[in-house]
Amino acid sequence: MTTPFLADAEAIRDDIIAIRRDLHMHPELGFQEVRTARLIADKLDGLGYDVIAGVGKTGVVGLLSGAQPGERTVLLRFDMDALPIQEENDVPYRSQTPGIMHACGHDAHVAVGIGVATVLAKHRDLFPGAIKLMFQPAEEGLGGAMSMIDDGVLKGPDVDIALGLHVASMLPLGQVVVRSGALLAAADKLEIVVRGRGGHAAHPDQTIDAVAVASHIVVALQTIVARNLDPEQPGVVTVGSIHAGEAGNVISETAIMRGSIRSFSPEVRDLLHRRIREVATGVAIALGAQADVTITLGVDPTVNAVAPTEVVYQAAAAVLGEENINTTYRTMGGEDFSAVLARVPGNFFFLGARNDQQGLNYPHHNPRFDIDESCLSAGVAILCDAAVRCLNGEGVGAG
Ligand SMILES: [Zn+2]
Ligand SMILES: [Zn+2]
Repeated sequence: MTTPFLADAEAIRDDIIAIRRDLHMHPELGFQEVRTARLIADKLDGLGYDVIAGVGKTGVVGLLSGAQPGERTVLLRFDMDALPIQEENDVPYRSQTPGIMHACGHDAHVAVGIGVATVLAKHRDLFPGAIKLMFQPAEEGLGGAMSMIDDGVLKGPDVDIALGLHVASMLPLGQVVVRSGALLAAADKLEIVVRGRGGHAAHPDQTIDAVAVASHIVVALQTIVARNLDPEQPGVVTVGSIHAGEAGNVISETAIMRGSIRSFSPEVRDLLHRRIREVATGVAIALGAQADVTITLGVDPTVNAVAPTEVVYQAAAAVLGEENINTTYRTMGGEDFSAVLARVPGNFFFLGARNDQQGLNYPHHNPRFDIDESCLSAGVAILCDAAVRCLNGEGVGAG
């Protein structure tokens, strides 16, 4: 099985890489993607798309109708934002903006998106219905997907199937992860404020030591995943920061702990939240203190529907070969495309971008993160192939 889109994607390989490098040199934080959005809008406009800018603040939507009549609309989503990280790569295309870096690969996503836009514009004859491109701001914890949804990105024309991808430095070049069910986790924020009674380090009997209480809470929280959770079900409770006290000779009155809670299923999510509250407040009471627990809901799990996932699998098989498709990997990372997939069936897949020989294997969000750009044309081809299949009637049905 082959696909015509791989040759098309390879033919514009250098252009896609040039766009990625330009964006990499000019990274912009969430909801500040002004230059990026203008570049996208100009390209889409030049390709004949109907362009709407300023969707969900800095988002851009591009709409292209196929040459044949059809009711279906397929949305393809690409995020645009960078991170507040100082780049440590010594490459010609390194970030020109101090303290800001494309350390998650969203520059690559935009480049793939423009590649997809270019190839599909050339092949309007191959599909009915419409392609809707969603260039999204602020994926990194700022709610860019919801902001575009609130602005109507899934309406007029209504989206039937949504597809997206993420480059992956943990996955070797030439491979993809395509699976149904939860691919990424729900990621909720945890804050625990411990209140004791401060005093002199020499007179602990006259105090309630918030540091000692917080320490017990951290240890007790570990028992939730170890002892309360079904061993077959993944879950994470991380305390990432504790702030308490200023001096070694003072017993601290308060301690503030912050953390992250990860889960794939609503049942596990509820269990973790309930047990965190019980354990933290219970331990604090036992030690004479008080713990106030605040859990702020973050992104939902990113859940892939069966039928669109089968389409992406077929597209990936045509581009990279079935032997290069991993159908089991998933990660406790979070992704706000989950907000789209909670409303519309679709698929989000990982595109391998790791190259150990070239040292392109640092984790996402690392100051030395980079990708093997050879992955980009495969990403373009898979998305084009899958989108056209969906417009031609595949990707719906049970699941
Ligand atoms: Zn990221
Ligand atoms: Zn990302």
